[in-house]
Amino acid sequence: MVEEVKSIVSQYQQQLIKLPFVPRSSFGRDLLGEDGGANKLFLTYLFSDMNLGIQFLKDVGLIRSKVTCNTCGHDMTWCADPTRKDGFRWRCRRRSVVVCSESKSIKHGSWFQHSNLTFQEVLFLTYDIVRREPAHLIKREHGFGPHTLADWAQFCRETMLLYMEGCSEKIGGPNKTVEIDESKFGKRKYGRGHPVKGQWVFGGVERESGRTFLVPVPDRTADTLMAVIDAWIEPGTTVISDCWGAYRDIDTHGYTHRTVNHSIEFVDQRTGAHTNTIESTWRHVKAYLSPYNRKGDYIYHLAHYMFVARCRAEEVDPFTKFLHLVATTDWAMCPPPPSSESCAE
Ligand SMILES: [Zn+2]
Repeated sequence: MVEEVKSIVSQYQQQLIKLPFVPRSSFGRDLLGEDGGANKLFLTYLFSDMNLGIQFLKDVGLIRSKVTCNTCGHDMTWCADPTRKDGFRWRCRRRSVVVCSESKSIKHGSWFQHSNLTFQEVLFLTYDIVRREPAHLIKREHGFGPHTLADWAQFCRETMLLYMEGCSEKIGGPNKTVEIDESKFGKRKYGRGHPVKGQWVFGGVERESGRTFLVPVPDRTADTLMAVIDAWIEPGTTVISDCWGAYRDIDTHGYTHRTVNHSIEFVDQRTGAHTNTIESTWRHVKAYLSPYNRKGDYIYHLAHYMFVARCRAEEVDPFTKFLHLVATTDWAMCPPPPSSESCAE
């Protein structure tokens, strides 16, 4: 549960604030982040004592507390190893007929495996990426190379995408109203005649909760849009759309359909139907994505948007939730990232 991660972070915050060299705020503010939400100062002080930092990683489940030997199947032993950058490694000490001498990195099967960055560096990067710090600021502050940054950003967003796909519960249901709409994303050249190819995104917002889905679609045909509607919206929902022809069969799929004709009015006088909620979502998403106006990877940035929006709905710090997500994933089978800068170990 994400609540457990929150409470572990909180315990370490209380422990760290007692250290003599951790400064106190004159406003009584928490310098190490809000209760249960780590910030960079927290990560800095946490790893000022490597043993403490590693204990934190074990407590949260970010690195393993138990590893079995591939050769003999015996539990391996945690031991100090000053020749390693992390200071420790897993060793097999089984002595039967022959002495087993298997050895494994303490990063084995974790978010940190395949990376030659330190734990603290990976956590700094992850923190900045989850919080969508601009790339040039991350580079300037930490000196990470462009490949390292791009690889980790992609890695973080893929993780969010897998999570969002895996946990995507449908929105709507009886007595719920979902506004749907399509919008084209991509750079537009102002003052010139050529329209620039963009990406259609189809979205829906449940009015009652603000729960949202956003899906890149290849086109706006009835087949495409109805498939997304069936996949994301519970039957029995009141669905409000504009008068786009592709929506004409919504009624026959188990939904109650209301329309607004935007060429005539923005609120249907007769039914009061409007799509102001989804219109305002487009404005937010477009502002959110504007620094990332690249084509092709919309799906990752939309997943990032949806991840942060979900954290807001659940009132949990996005970095805390991300740590929980990473800690509950088995990375042992995960292939190394393509860049040589971050995969050597
Ligand atoms: Zn062994």
